[in-house]
Amino acid sequence: MKQTLFSGIQPTGKLHIGNYLGALKNFVDLQNSGGYNCYFCIVDLHSLSGDLDPKTKPMQILDLAADFLAVGLDPKKSIIFQQSQVPGHSELTWILNSITPMGELERMTQFKDKSERQATNINVGLFDYPVLMVADVILYDTRVVPVGDDQLQHIELMRTLSRKFNTRFGQTFIEPKALLTKTPRVMSLKDPHKKMSKSVPDGCLFLDDSPEIIKSKIARAMTDSGSEIVYDPERKPGLSNLIELYAAFTDDDPKSVAKKFADQQYSIFKNKLAEVVAEHFAEFRTRKEELLSDPAKLIKILDAGSKKANAVAEEKMADVKKKIGLAL
Ligand code: ADP
Repeated sequence: MKQTLFSGIQPTGKLHIGNYLGALKNFVDLQNSGGYNCYFCIVDLHSLSGDLDPKTKPMQILDLAADFLAVGLDPKKSIIFQQSQVPGHSELTWILNSITPMGELERMTQFKDKSERQATNINVGLFDYPVLMVADVILYDTRVVPVGDDQLQHIELMRTLSRKFNTRFGQTFIEPKALLTKTPRVMSLKDPHKKMSKSVPDGCLFLDDSPEIIKSKIARAMTDSGSEIVYDPERKPGLSNLIELYAAFTDDDPKSVAKKFADQQYSIFKNKLAEVVAEHFAEFRTRKEELLSDPAKLIKILDAGSKKANAVAEEKMADVKKKIGLAL
């Protein structure tokens, strides 16, 4: 039997190449490998802990659906769906809340980071976010979770809570494992010591940036002193981040990329990188535009995916309720 794979992305604005190289590209490769039973979720409930704007939310959901499809996710091969349309996610979160020690959530680095970034809106949803993530994944008997390495602590919580539930109420959930890519952490173009993140748009290359914008952002990307092109993440983190990007987009390894450009100036290397990135997303940009021109079709695809996911989730929730004594 095929293993189940689950991953989700929040609809909170444009996707950047960190999301792509750390997660989304791998989603497509794993889907097309034919080895997995795939669920790809637009985690809209998660996004409420960041911004709660009913005017922009529908567009953000559709935009992410278009990203998923334009990049190559295929509703004939994968279940592509909207988290809030499957009540099991929130229901299981509430049940898991009752077996989650506060201490487990208090030490989550993402909670600490996000609390700093949105200091005026540290809400309970932000704190409980990892438990909703646990519910998302274990609801479907998931074994594999393709994510960037910023999510490893959350995956560990999935394993802890699954084990805890199983020990107390009998075998119900599977302990999932993370699956990382070769580029599990893309760094910001503005600060190579921080990860590229939607919350600092200046340091991001977005998937739908035009070739001109890509060129100008890479030209302005922070590099290190010196003029020699070498791959040395310790001493030259800015340049090494760009070299890693070039390697990822050309399917090469960073050391051989550095060798290739060894005698060139930074500016020549940066121009070449900009060309490679712009070219990589040329077809994506056209497909995304086409997809967004027909929102009804996107909604239909998400609805069909949500129905399929819900059928599986309902079965699991019936078992969970029986196990914890809620089924009369
Ligand atoms: P969330 O806010 O739910 O963590 P994001 O939208 O930031 O979600 O990220 C979606 C996916 O992209 C996750 O799997 C995350 O690990 C990955 N990701 C985010 N930023 C980076 C990065 N800079 N490098 C590699 N992967 C990343």
